[in-house]
Order: sequence, then structure tokens, then C-alpha cells
Amino acid sequence: MPIPERFIDELVARCDIADVVGEYVSLTSKGANMWGLCPFHTEKTASFSVSRDRQIYKCFGCGKGGGVINFIMEMEHLSYPDAIRHLAKRVGMEVPETGGSDAGRKKYRRAQEANREAARFYYSYLGSPGGAAVRDYIEQRRISPKFATRFGLGAAPGEWDMLTKALTGQGFSKMELIDAGLAVAGKNGGIYDKFRSRLMLPVIDVRGDVVGFTSRILPGLEGAKYLNSPETVCFKKSQLIYALNFAKATKRPNLVLVEGNIDVITLHQAGFDNVVATMGTALTADHARILSRHTKELVLCYDNDEAGKKSTDRVLSILKNADLAVRVLQLPNATGEDGKAVKQDPDDFVKRFGPAAFEKCLSGSADQNDYQLSTLLQRADLSSDEGRVAFLREAVETVGRLQSPIEREIYGGKAAQAAGISASAFAQEMERWRKGRLRQARKKEERRDLTPAVSRQPKARQLRYENIRSGLAEEGVLRLVLMDPTLFAAADLTAEQFSSPVLGKAFQRLKDRHDRDLSVQLPALAGEFTADEMSLLVEAASQPESMAYARRAMADYIETIRTEARQRQDPKGIDALLELRDRQREKTTMEDGK
Ligand SMILES: [Zn+2]
Repeated sequence: MPIPERFIDELVARCDIADVVGEYVSLTSKGANMWGLCPFHTEKTASFSVSRDRQIYKCFGCGKGGGVINFIMEMEHLSYPDAIRHLAKRVGMEVPETGGSDAGRKKYRRAQEANREAARFYYSYLGSPGGAAVRDYIEQRRISPKFATRFGLGAAPGEWDMLTKALTGQGFSKMELIDAGLAVAGKNGGIYDKFRSRLMLPVIDVRGDVVGFTSRILPGLEGAKYLNSPETVCFKKSQLIYALNFAKATKRPNLVLVEGNIDVITLHQAGFDNVVATMGTALTADHARILSRHTKELVLCYDNDEAGKKSTDRVLSILKNADLAVRVLQLPNATGEDGKAVKQDPDDFVKRFGPAAFEKCLSGSADQNDYQLSTLLQRADLSSDEGRVAFLREAVETVGRLQSPIEREIYGGKAAQAAGISASAFAQEMERWRKGRLRQARKKEERRDLTPAVSRQPKARQLRYENIRSGLAEEGVLRLVLMDPTLFAAADLTAEQFSSPVLGKAFQRLKDRHDRDLSVQLPALAGEFTADEMSLLVEAASQPESMAYARRAMADYIETIRTEARQRQDPKGIDALLELRDRQREKTTMEDGK
């Protein structure tokens, strides 16, 4: 069940876009709009504009645009409902919770409350005499008190039911504690604590709520080394990413995925506030989708042992289709006293070599190239000529994509050596491939420049107008009704007549809102369009349009849309001239493509 539209209207009306954006971007008034440096791309001169009149923002650099809800979604990396909650909190409005059944909602809330209270209990137990052993362990792991507090670390007592007693004393029922994953049913109808004699790490979701725990047993005791909360209404391992609540605010250009939850804490402490981990499970497609909302690049940093390498390969195959660039950070091999390679995780590495060394690994791309080449090599069959040719073909592309000539030379040399050919032959082949690629790219650009009106095409490729003439007229209709909703009376069109599905849908939705006496403004549509679609709508709305000739312009736009729609529906009926024009166009395109 969606949040009521009238509530969203009210919320948008109360959250002035300039005020909200002003908390993130310093804005100065110039002309009708306010301007500042775009928070979504790096720039030195202000091309990010905010319109108080229309309650929208738009960047002339990267093309992003939307209303106040889109801004918060993008800025705080929140989903639509969470962005609404965020804004509602800001202006002191209560979101009517309509999702799910009452019983389901209550169960969720109680499970979350129980986990929050449990985190408080474990935290205070850590400071008590009973928490001494866990305190020692935290010290042994060299986690500072500041970071232990920041991550809410706690201690689970060794007794059977201390937590259970404390929480039932606070009014939680036994069933609620089992549902929250904090207690386990025993024989004779009794229940006992799920976690005992453990270092407790609360798991906090991106909204900042404790939803469960991961834990480590104290050294020397029997039991599972790591133990998570079981799957509950609020603890879903396939969707939780540990420390994302902190890492989402990082200024670093990427997120680093490590294996151990404790490693996450020590790395944050060492200055890497972009480190996250899954909950002891393999990365899922869900995780990938969530991560891609928060970063453009994911750096995999698994242990440098066999198991770590296997995990890396598995994750790489899951991430192949994700909207994320992936880099592998391989920690350099360390050797023990016996001269043999020893397992090294990021925590060991930072403690042994310091944060600067880890920073170097993180920024350097060398390891990744090595990794890619060695992966190619593992797959290749270098005993046959065909196998070597196949390997070289892939290696030429992999190495040829590197930007730095030095890197190309180093890794080209390695690949050539592996396949048993001369470095110069490899380099020659690689340059040929690079030239071909460059030529293709240039041609594509030229073709784009030659096509008229292409500069007015939407930035997002999948939204490009099939019929640019109609598309621009459709933009015009939207622009006019947004400026003056009374013009809907003159806009006798249906969504089906629009050539662009997005513009058609926007027209329909705005018309519905107008009919039901809701606000006819773009910010209210944030929940129904993607960020790219919203940017397109904002772009369409911000083209210049004179209100003085609004009715005349509306009639022209409608005429164009109708004519083009008729031709789409009845292609055979179009006159010979149009057919000829199309054929001519096709011919030119084919010649261009040669
Ligand atoms: Zn921008």
C-alpha cells in the first residue's frame, strides 16, 4: 500500500527545495534561480540550479534533476519511502504507515525494538565486571574504545538467560524474543539466550535501526566462532550489508568489501570509512543492487588464501551484470618465518604494514591487472596454438584498455611472455586493436553529430525519443500544463498518442492529479519514475516557453502529436512523400554506418 498522495503533497509543500538543498549545497541567487556546485558530480563552476517557483533542481553539467524527494533519495542514498520518512522527520510530520498488515507491522516493530534493547543490554554488560573477558578481547584486537562505542560493541553474558530475563522484565513476551532472534526455545517450554559468552556486534540497517547481531565467541571457548541472528522479520542476510550505515556517507570514491565484520571496524578505525562486509554469507544479487545504489565502484578485498580467491571468483561472476565497476584488491603475499606464504586478511595487513600501505594497495590498479591476467591465464590452454591465440586475443583487449602506456608495456610484456611470443609482436597487435577501437568511437560520435535535433535527445540512452518531432511536442505539452494546469482543458490527448512512454505516463499522471484536485507538480511524481526519467521530465519542464502564446503553442504541439501518432498507427496511409523521405533517411544512415 502506497503512502497517501495527499500526505506527499503536503510534505513537498512544507519542504522547500531551496531550504533542503541549501543544507548540502551553498546556493546563491542569480536571476530567477539559485545556483551552486553540483553535489552529484565534480565541478569548479556552478551549473546546479534550483528553482523555487517550480520546486525542482537541475544540473546543466551531469543532467540530474528532480524534486525534493528525488534530491534526498540521491543525496542520502535512500529508497522512495525512506526518503519520505527522512523529510517527514525533518518537518515533524508523521508518515501514515500503510504497508503490510497491522499484525505484520507490529511484529516488525517489536522485533526491532527488542533488538535495540538487546544492543543496549549488551553494551552496558560490556562495561560491567562480567564484561571483562570481552573487553580484553576487544583490546587484543586493538579496537579503540572510541570505535567500540561507535560500532556499539557489547558483551553477551555466559549465563543462560540474563538477556531473556532483562527483556521480559521490560515487557517483551517469550515469543517476541524468539521472533526477534534473541532467544531460543528450550525443553519444558522455557527459553534461553541465543548468544552467550560472545563479543556482540549490532547490525544496523541504512536507516540506523538495530535489526540483529553478528558475534564472535571468546577465544578458548567452545561453540561456533561466528554466530549471526537467525533470519527474522527484520534480519534478512541476503539484503544486509554490515557498516553500510556508516560507509554510505564516505567521501571516498568506492566501497571496499571485506570478509570479516571485525575487520570492518579495524579498517574504519584506520581511516577507511568505506569498508563494508556481508553477514558471513556470499554476496547475492540483492546485495549487488543495494551496493550499486551507494557507489559506482566496488573493491573486493578478500583474504589472500585459496578460500578467499574462490570467493573472489564467485563474487565477480555475480557482479558481472551489476551496475557497478568492480576491482579486485589483492593483498601482497606475506611470508612466514619458514619462508612459506601465510594467509593475510586486511586487518592483519593494516596492523602489520600500516594504513599508508593499505591506501597504496587501494589506489593502485596494478594488483587488479595482475589478477585479470592471471585469471585469463588460468582459463587458457597454452599447449595448443589455438589456445594461445585465444589467450592473446583476450589479453590484447584487457591490456589494451589500460590508460597508462607504462602499464600497457608492463602487462603486455607479462602476457607476451606467458604465451611465448615477443613483447614487440604483442605491442603491435595491441596498438592495432586500440586504433580500431578509437576509429569506431570517433565514427559513432560523428554519426551522432550529423543527426539533426540529436542534441535535444534525452541524456539517458534508453529514454531516447523514437520520434523526435513528436517527442519535443510532447515535452511542450507537459511544460505548459505544469506552468498552468488550467491548460489541461485544452490538452485533449491520451497517453497512447504520446510517442515517448515516459512523457505519456507523466501526462496521464499529472492529468489524474489535476482531476482529483492534487498538486500538478513534478516533485510529487518521485515515487513513480526512475531517477533518469525524473531528470528527463525536469529537463523538459525547464526549456524556455512563453506563457503569452501558451494557447497557440498548445494547439501546435497537439497538432504535431496527433499527426505523428496517426502515422504510427497507419503507416501505409502516409503519403508518398513521407515514405520517400524515410527511405532517403535510411540510406544516409546506412552510408554513415559503413
Ligand atoms: Zn551535476
